[in-house]
Amino acid sequence: MKRTILLNPGPITLTERVRQALLREDLCHREPEFAELTLDIKKRLASVYPEATTDYEAIMLTGSGTCAVEAMLSTLIPQNGKALVVSNGVYGERIVSMVTTHGKAVEVVSSQWHEPMNLIEVEKHLEQDSGITHVIAVHHETTTGRLNDVAKLGQLCKSKNVALLLDSVSSFGAEKIEFADWNLEACAATANKCLHGVPGICFVLVKKSVFESRPSAAETLYLDLDRYHQEQLQGYSPFTQAVQIVYALQESLKEMEDLGGWMARHQQYSHLSQQIRQCLRELGISTLLDEPDYSCVLTSFNLPLGYSYEKIHDSLKKSGFIIYAGQGRLKKDIFRIANMGDIQLDDAKRLRNCLQSLFR
Ligand SMILES: *Cc1c(COP(=O)(O)O)cnc(C)c1O
Repeated sequence: MKRTILLNPGPITLTERVRQALLREDLCHREPEFAELTLDIKKRLASVYPEATTDYEAIMLTGSGTCAVEAMLSTLIPQNGKALVVSNGVYGERIVSMVTTHGKAVEVVSSQWHEPMNLIEVEKHLEQDSGITHVIAVHHETTTGRLNDVAKLGQLCKSKNVALLLDSVSSFGAEKIEFADWNLEACAATANKCLHGVPGICFVLVKKSVFESRPSAAETLYLDLDRYHQEQLQGYSPFTQAVQIVYALQESLKEMEDLGGWMARHQQYSHLSQQIRQCLRELGISTLLDEPDYSCVLTSFNLPLGYSYEKIHDSLKKSGFIIYAGQGRLKKDIFRIANMGDIQLDDAKRLRNCLQSLFR
């Protein structure tokens, strides 16, 4: 089989170990074997960050990352509550659209896409408006590659006693998450980014005490986390789960544990992303953000003079590498290189050679 290296921010290049897991025996999602599989995955997901293991429950859904984010917002923001969304990219804006679609009250503190979150404004909002029940932010804003300063935001939430909900879709498994210090009520993520699984399964980690303290606020039947939670305590789910993809998620979690957990993955990604940035810097290509602002997962580069995105994309694709365009208003300005998935030393070396012959 042809080996394609996906340098887009998910789905990722699978390891053979995870790919093989897709071929296991057929299984009905109402059988006890599936319940056992679900319970095992719930345990492993809640243990990716040891701090979360006892106080948070992992809830697994069939769908992409957006499904997990929407289920989290819909179920947890009370109908008479109010959301404060901190936005500096496409995914922050998507959260605003979701809360608005759900008909819940929302305030927005937005910054330019290349700017950090505006925490001074957040503080003002929290001081002026005691009706805000939830602050919502994007941990790694994949639009630009910025790792948002959620530690500072979380401190603010904690000091004001407001719950934080996090879109950690492109950071879960690779960046630090501090559950207690950030006053984190829940975070949403997916199988097919930093966890190296197959697209089709997503999940939310929810503080257990939430389910005991208030009813579900979901205005949707299918994405009501409360219902999933109740049934998944015994390992079952209200609707058909993507069985083969669940097998693959279990294998990818085992593989990650074997390789040393999220911190080892963080180190591996950091090393790789620094190599890619250095290579392009030496070829005269600048980054959109300052280098320390990036996550270890993805970097955005300014398109150099005389090169369209298509030209760079098509040339790399011929060599088996798939990069990613800018979104929205950055479409004409940047290209992005993510470094998740099964990228071997040889692949990295070959990528460097391709970039050198393209830009030299
Ligand atoms: C990938 C991503 C999502 C979800 O995208 P899907 O296409 O639904 O998987 C949400 N938030 C962030 C920050 C992402 O990077």
